Amino acid sequence: MSDYQWLRPVNLTLPDPDEDSFEFWEGLKQGRLLMQVCNICSQMNYPPMVMCSECGSFNFQWREIEGGGVLYSYVVTHQPIHPSLVDYTPFLTALIELDEGPRITSNIVNIQPEEAEIGMRLKLELFEVNPQITLPLFVREYVS
Ligand SMILES: [Zn+2]
Repeated sequence: MSDYQWLRPVNLTLPDPDEDSFEFWEGLKQGRLLMQVCNICSQMNYPPMVMCSECGSFNFQWREIEGGGVLYSYVVTHQPIHPSLVDYTPFLTALIELDEGPRITSNIVNIQPEEAEIGMRLKLELFEVNPQITLPLFVREYVS
């Protein structure tokens, strides 16, 4: 088991919740990963959007999900593409396929980039940046 700990670049910009994503970010602050679910066709939409990507409905509810999934794809960035990333490379940007279906872009915080393997089990780990923003990050799930 790696003892690597990801560090968030301190000056990196943060999400700016809008009216479509407000519930998602509020849920994270309360320790819950909420997905927008269409009341007409049951499609789970991520990221939250104004209109269902499947059927065009504007009628949604919010459903809490576990936050487990697998690494679907990833990229390792070696160049600091923004001044706030100097001293924070290489870093891994992951596309996680959640068990419920949606794919979410995030970071895996307990492995080195070279430890990433497509299909590895991951689980949600919340990271409170400030009282307004809690990020949905992921950790490798070690199955015994
Ligand atoms: Zn729909």
